[in-house]
Amino acid sequence: MPHLFRGGVFPDDKKKSTRHKQIEALPPPERIILPMSMHAGPPCEPSVHTGQAVAMGQMIADSAAPGSAPVHATVSGFVEAIEPRRHINGEEGLSVVIFNDGKDRLDSSIRPYGSVESLDPGRLLKIVRGAGIVGLGGGAVPTHTKIASAGGKCDTVIINGCECEPYMTSDHRLMLEAPEEVVGGLRVLMKILSPKRAVIAVESNKKEAYEALRHTLPGKTDIELKMLPARYPQGSEKQLIRSVTGREVPAGRQPPDVGCAVFNVDTAAAIHRAVTTGMPLIRRIVTVAGSAVSNPKNLSVRIGTPISEIFAATGGFREKPAKILTGGPMMGAAQYDLSAPLVKSCGSLLAFSATDLPPAGTEICIRCGKCVAACPMKLLPNYLYMYERKDRLEELKKLNLQDCVECGACSYICPGRLYLVHSIRTGKQKLIDDKKKREEGQVG
Ligand code: SF4
Ligand code: SF4
Repeated sequence: MPHLFRGGVFPDDKKKSTRHKQIEALPPPERIILPMSMHAGPPCEPSVHTGQAVAMGQMIADSAAPGSAPVHATVSGFVEAIEPRRHINGEEGLSVVIFNDGKDRLDSSIRPYGSVESLDPGRLLKIVRGAGIVGLGGGAVPTHTKIASAGGKCDTVIINGCECEPYMTSDHRLMLEAPEEVVGGLRVLMKILSPKRAVIAVESNKKEAYEALRHTLPGKTDIELKMLPARYPQGSEKQLIRSVTGREVPAGRQPPDVGCAVFNVDTAAAIHRAVTTGMPLIRRIVTVAGSAVSNPKNLSVRIGTPISEIFAATGGFREKPAKILTGGPMMGAAQYDLSAPLVKSCGSLLAFSATDLPPAGTEICIRCGKCVAACPMKLLPNYLYMYERKDRLEELKKLNLQDCVECGACSYICPGRLYLVHSIRTGKQKLIDDKKKREEGQVG
């Protein structure tokens, strides 16, 4: 029996428009835009110059800073520009623009490294770093950083196949169509981390994916396959750890502090490909769906492809979208400029008609307590909202604002449709700004 995590909500999963759609490879566009910031840490520095010819899979940028992961050319061609371009985070960021020569000429460094058995853990970790892999479930933490921080502390490795966000089916399709890549990636992680327990966790609304993985595993195996109830946010790291192991990650602590490391299924597959083919992270699977999309699909897309071209590949919009999101409807970010490119951590693009948007709320808290009951992190979203609006930063700290995982369960359940998550994100930024001011001596 799984250990149930606290709180959570049960949104309609809305996955039926794409759950049966096989992954299609989207031909790469004429121009690829590669932001230098596609990971949690500081941006990379380009190592190429304008006019330089580049091959597919060639490393074009890197940074020695912790939290950064190198960037690779996702097509062959030449560097057309190195300049600020729109990022899906809404800001302009330094990007390398590559004109695609249409040849997909492979970089000479790309070749298989050998079997997992023949490579030692240190070598495998270097391969993961060199491949520029980051958390493809949305976290964008470089995978080598995550593995390194779990090294020596981790007795349980969990592969996260929950994909609990509505609409998204990219992980589902991957588990169904390439289960051996997921299992192969887990084998690499097991070799590096030597855990006592290795688990692949899948939500109960993906039974076909569960079966595909089960058939891939031999009858007697050291890998456990676990089906968990579909409940949002089952795929959030701390909640998943609770469901699989019964362990609670305390406030302000991280999974390795309770002996766990969690990796998304697509991240595992990318690790497998990096080791067995030498190919760095140059593409990812994206669900394109929502009521304004003509023909929802799952696409395998080169990183750096403009969002507008990805939507165009699904037949465009059936009507003018009223809202476009990168990521799922619970945690995704609104997009206003479709020239921005696909980044490593983005697993879905959603476009909604006006009729499909929830009605505007009253923005009045009726103190029903539903947000408190839904919060999986035991926070008080209603109070966080109130204190953020009043700039009461000390209270925000006391109520552990920083522990909010921005899952959106509170906003989803709130009858007044208060912008709770938005307010919490703003509150986090206020705390950062306040800390900076204090460090600079501007606040007494
Ligand atoms: S307060 Fe944060 S963690 Fe709690 S439900 Fe809201 S978004 Fe999720
Ligand atoms: S769910 Fe909304 S209305 Fe109810 S207590 Fe929370 S903030 Fe107030």
